[in-house]
Amino acid sequence: MKKTIYMDYSATTPVLKEVAAEMMPYFTEFYGNPASIYTLSNESKMAIDDAKITIAKIINCKPQEVFFTSGGSEGDSWSIIGSAFANRNKGKHIITTEIEHHAVLNCCKFLEKEGFEITYLKVDSNGFVSIDDLKKSIRKDTILVSIMMANNEIGTIEPVKEIGAFLKEKNITFHTDAVQAAGHIKIDVEEINVDLLSLAAHKFYGPKGVGILYIRKGTKIDNIIYGGQQQRGRRGGTENVPGIVGIAKALKIVNDELEKENERETVLRNLFIEKSLEIPNVKLNGILNEKRLSNNINLCFNEKDGEGILFKLDMEGICASAGSACQAGAMDASHVLTAIGLSKEEARSSIRFTIGKFTTEEEILYVVNKLKELTS
Ligand SMILES: *Cc1c(COP(=O)(O)O)cnc(C)c1O
Repeated sequence: MKKTIYMDYSATTPVLKEVAAEMMPYFTEFYGNPASIYTLSNESKMAIDDAKITIAKIINCKPQEVFFTSGGSEGDSWSIIGSAFANRNKGKHIITTEIEHHAVLNCCKFLEKEGFEITYLKVDSNGFVSIDDLKKSIRKDTILVSIMMANNEIGTIEPVKEIGAFLKEKNITFHTDAVQAAGHIKIDVEEINVDLLSLAAHKFYGPKGVGILYIRKGTKIDNIIYGGQQQRGRRGGTENVPGIVGIAKALKIVNDELEKENERETVLRNLFIEKSLEIPNVKLNGILNEKRLSNNINLCFNEKDGEGILFKLDMEGICASAGSACQAGAMDASHVLTAIGLSKEEARSSIRFTIGKFTTEEEILYVVNKLKELTS
């Protein structure tokens, strides 16, 4: 088998050895249920409390505002469905964007069936939402705004700080999907004035199946997972203790290395883009400046079938994705790429490469050369 060159870090990341090592004892040694009263369980309880403290310091909140979920989709679902139902006597209008992850969009679709009205904000040709459009779409009965911190397909970083400042003034609940931001953008919930913020460990070198939902004290939100009194009665279910230990450790590592790693990835990303634009008829989707995630490359291979190129790349051991990973295998053109103005054909001929901690310059040059070969 050929050596794997992994360029799909936005789909998921490998778990760091340090993270896995930190988790290990909580599988085999400290396996007590954190809700139990005997001494064995203290280790589990303490591990959860420590994780909350670590996370709270990094995102600038109180440990009691940190909740653990099963990942990004649950954090988004809890935020959107939970706050819609908690505020339904106040209003039924929700604002989001056309380029959100399906975890957000499909919650909105569900709520439409429940009688809520959703405004899907359009974005410009680089994927930015306009604050003016947001201001114009606010109604008396607007109860929630959900706008992502950074887009998973084209890496566009949205102006969440301005959005948060405006919504705070209006007293409207603000949720942001920060799943792609972690490890790339400093997350400070006070600076953004956000009420709900979701994260997923497996997008930043932690384990799959665990996430964080930050819930600002005082935010009206219903439960969506029912069960016991875990997590202060707000999310039933025995906590995923090893996962919680892992997510805290991973967040600490990526946060400590954020600036250095961003700088490194920016150089590699720019090299990838510069070299691949030498291929005839190749175009970059999205913007190329500091408002793009440092690890995102999304290219349109005009007229060529993206899935076909992906298949050939796979034969060479190269992992990348067509449109968004969640649509791999699906025939639909990416909703993000069509929202920024690409035709369905252009969207279908686009490929996303996302680099990360273990990507080298050698790999970049190798992949671009393969692309040249495969598309000529
Ligand atoms: C991956 C992703 C999600 C979903 O996270 P899961 O942990 O896979 O449920 C949500 N939003 C964005 C932006 C993502 O990239």
